[in-house]
Amino acid sequence: MPTQIVLASGNPGKLKEFQQLLANARIKVSPQAEFNTSEVEETGLSFIENALLKARHASQHARLPAIADDSGLEVDFLGGAPGIYSSRFAGIGASDGDNNEKLLESLQDAPAEGRSARFQCLLVYLRHAQDPTPIICQGTWEGRILTAPRGDNGFGYDPLFFVPDHQCSAAELSAEDKNILSHRGRAMAYLLDHLLS
Ligand code: IMP
Repeated sequence: MPTQIVLASGNPGKLKEFQQLLANARIKVSPQAEFNTSEVEETGLSFIENALLKARHASQHARLPAIADDSGLEVDFLGGAPGIYSSRFAGIGASDGDNNEKLLESLQDAPAEGRSARFQCLLVYLRHAQDPTPIICQGTWEGRILTAPRGDNGFGYDPLFFVPDHQCSAAELSAEDKNILSHRGRAMAYLLDHLLS
């Protein structure tokens, strides 16, 4: 089992969640910026292609095992958008606030049943940059898109993502609860099973 892993992301929200998720396994997660690694262009057409691109790039630069997730929100009324373009839904360099605003605008005419949505997470673990058998894990989290933001925790679309089983938004959940329920938490549970077995 490795003791240090590089995370192929510059997203502080993701970094925090991965550090929490891997703390119990005594694995230190370091962001790729610590190894002067730039963000790679996400040219893939699927979550898995982008996750692999990011993980290989980070592992190559840091010379460490790497973890990358490509994640995003699929909204049924929008035919699955923003999907792999979630972080840049409102344009390149868009803030979480910009993306949330665009999502609310896009759903102005949506009937209640069209507001169903899910987060997807494709998580890839590479033992080294040339690893021909990456561990690939997928997690999904079903919910609905609210008509106004609720809560201050989490990141990204969390304030607009209603979690039916808990009757609150993802941004109203504690970090611990989100890590158990979320797409990323579920994919990570699968990865930990593999890493620790
Ligand atoms: P990526 O860094 O290309 O994988 O982009 C992921 C984007 O999907 C983030 O910037 C968020 O907009 C969204 N996203 C992924 N996971 C979450 C989450 O757990 N909560 C809220 N938004 C998320």
